Amino acid sequence: MHTAGQRVVVPFSHRKLVGVIVEVSNRSDLAIDKLASVMDYPDGEQTVLTTEVLALLKWCWRYYKHAPGEVVFNALPPLLRKIGGTIPAAPVEYRLTPAGETRLLEPIGRIKAQFGLLAKIQEGAVTESQLRALTPAWRKTLSQLIEKEWVQSETQQRSTLNPTRGPELMDEQRLAMEAISSGHKGYHCHLLDGITGSGKTEVYLRVLEQVLSKGGQALLLVPEIGLTPQLVNRFRERLGIEPMVTHSGLNEGQRLQTWAQARSGLAQLVIGTRSALFLPMSGLQMIILDEEHDASFKQQDGFRYSSRDVAVKRASGLDIPVVLGTATPSLETYSNAAGGRYSWHRLRQRATGAAEPRWRVLDLIQQTMTGGISSIAMKAIGETLGKGEQALIFLNRRGYAPVILCHQCGWHGACQHCDANLTWHKASRRLLCHHCESVAVVPVTCPACGADALEGAGEGTEQLEQVLAKAFPDTPLLRFDRDSVRKKGEFERLSMQVKAGESCLLVGTQMLAKGHHFPKVTLVVIVNLDQALYSADFRALERMGQLMMQVAGRAGRDQLPGEVILQTHYPQHESLLTLLTSGYEAFAGDICADRRAACLPPYSYQALLRSDAREKDEVRRFLNQAKRCFPAGDALIYGPFPAMMERRSGRTRWYLLVQANKRSSLHRQLDEWLLQLQKLSSARKVRWSVDVDPQDY
Ligand code: ADP
Ligand code: ZN
Ligand code: ZN
Repeated sequence: MHTAGQRVVVPFSHRKLVGVIVEVSNRSDLAIDKLASVMDYPDGEQTVLTTEVLALLKWCWRYYKHAPGEVVFNALPPLLRKIGGTIPAAPVEYRLTPAGETRLLEPIGRIKAQFGLLAKIQEGAVTESQLRALTPAWRKTLSQLIEKEWVQSETQQRSTLNPTRGPELMDEQRLAMEAISSGHKGYHCHLLDGITGSGKTEVYLRVLEQVLSKGGQALLLVPEIGLTPQLVNRFRERLGIEPMVTHSGLNEGQRLQTWAQARSGLAQLVIGTRSALFLPMSGLQMIILDEEHDASFKQQDGFRYSSRDVAVKRASGLDIPVVLGTATPSLETYSNAAGGRYSWHRLRQRATGAAEPRWRVLDLIQQTMTGGISSIAMKAIGETLGKGEQALIFLNRRGYAPVILCHQCGWHGACQHCDANLTWHKASRRLLCHHCESVAVVPVTCPACGADALEGAGEGTEQLEQVLAKAFPDTPLLRFDRDSVRKKGEFERLSMQVKAGESCLLVGTQMLAKGHHFPKVTLVVIVNLDQALYSADFRALERMGQLMMQVAGRAGRDQLPGEVILQTHYPQHESLLTLLTSGYEAFAGDICADRRAACLPPYSYQALLRSDAREKDEVRRFLNQAKRCFPAGDALIYGPFPAMMERRSGRTRWYLLVQANKRSSLHRQLDEWLLQLQKLSSARKVRWSVDVDPQDY
């Protein structure tokens, strides 16, 4: 019997590969000798994709125009993509038998180890991982207990929810909670738009409690950087169950376990990054996406999909609610909420009663600067430290300086393979390309003119750290960026130190911007975000606003009032002023109006045909040919244009832009076009892919 969703092993030229049945058909247009026979069914009759997930994946490959095989494999844990892997057996737990109970009433005798374990199991059923934590020799002792029929194994049961009481909800929270839990039956999309510290997570906890207590399963998707042990702890402690966690950093065995427990229903709550979206969960009753605006929800290579959009699609297919939470809605979500398609729940009060931080805009014209920090900001930092409080200095650029240059002849360190400067990492004495990872040693004298005049231009976090350490030699300084926080657990160690509350300085990149509650931080200095104000990328301004609000949200989260200093050369920039004086919602409204006037997303729909190759001519030839066969219709085609970074890792990258006012025309024309593209002779000389709803160019 063949069933859609079943894994099979099939011959593929001289190899054997794993495949998944997506449809069963009695007839084929191909001759019978062109068809391959199934060689094996690694999971027997069991399926790895539910009908529901399969339907979602079908929608994905049609919508994103991506190869079905890759779309399906993306949804499977890595071990099930390979020959050899198989669906694990349901986990078991161990319980005492009546004979075991009786034995415990008798004297210990000479079976000390067995008796000890027996006594432990009497307290309640235990799983293998709990036993493993108990004693290294558990397996032998356990098998003795099973042999004597004092202990038996059973399929592990779903643990019961054991929630502890949370704080009394504030009115805004309660209204949001009630609307999400009971306001609408079936599919509905909720935007939970709450400033940092307004208690969004508290609302998630309440709605999850309701869903899980009725026996449902739930999925919480978080950005890559947001999945911290603190977050998981908070859900564990409040709900009294063990959330299952999944992300790409786990090993393959662990990912398979989470997948299997989601599938069997044992996992009640799964917290994960974007790939968790495709977990088979037949009891799924609610999807929550935290920080819905976060860029990491869009997969940027291979199967390029937006987990936010697919999450909404999945919820609508399942007819269940989906919650998009954020302090700074993406413009896509904003326009959906403004247009009435999503319910919009605003949380504008901080739940702890803390005041919102005060903004101070610092015009950098004619300021005295030390390593990127103005003397006024420096003074404010000193005052904060003087009061025994903490200050956070934010700069979204790691390394010592973004470029090294010669003051004699103007030579500068550029990457050989990309259109990018090499970042100077002074401590490790390297010049690093942040785009292709290529490394060079720092020259002692100028490679072009030989002068001893090399200097860094601009600042990175490494330089800020040095400058601040010099200015405040007695204050502990903690740097948070990808160079300083490499080791597992390092981030946790540093944040524990911050939370301990001693006066200190935090320097870091966007790693510091998200989700952390540091009660003693009362001053935030945003060193430089000016580039975004005049960027060629129409999304730069939106991202800047989001980042600014996130970073500012770190200030004064507790009892102490907070202040944010923004250093800029453009204090009169209109959008910046709106953001600071009227808030993010007004800012988003302004940008939306601009986008509407310019017919840009979310008021139009886009797709890119991206192409790259070593030879620029090949790319141009392909895209020009491709453009000529674009079918007529409402969607129009523009380009070819060079990518924002034209050369990267030695390859030249260009694209064609397709844009339409209606999604349906875009897709109809794209589908027709794709059939033509595959036939183009020039297509074989380049790499090409389609990106629907692109986020970068
Ligand atoms: P967000 O997710 O919006 O940043 P959190 O849910 O983390 O906000 O809440 C911020 C802080 O306020 C947390 O310490 C939380 O325990 C607390 N909190 C949330 N809701 C309430 C409430 N209704 N009453 C008191 N404290 C609350
Ligand atoms: Zn020189
Ligand atoms: Zn490079």
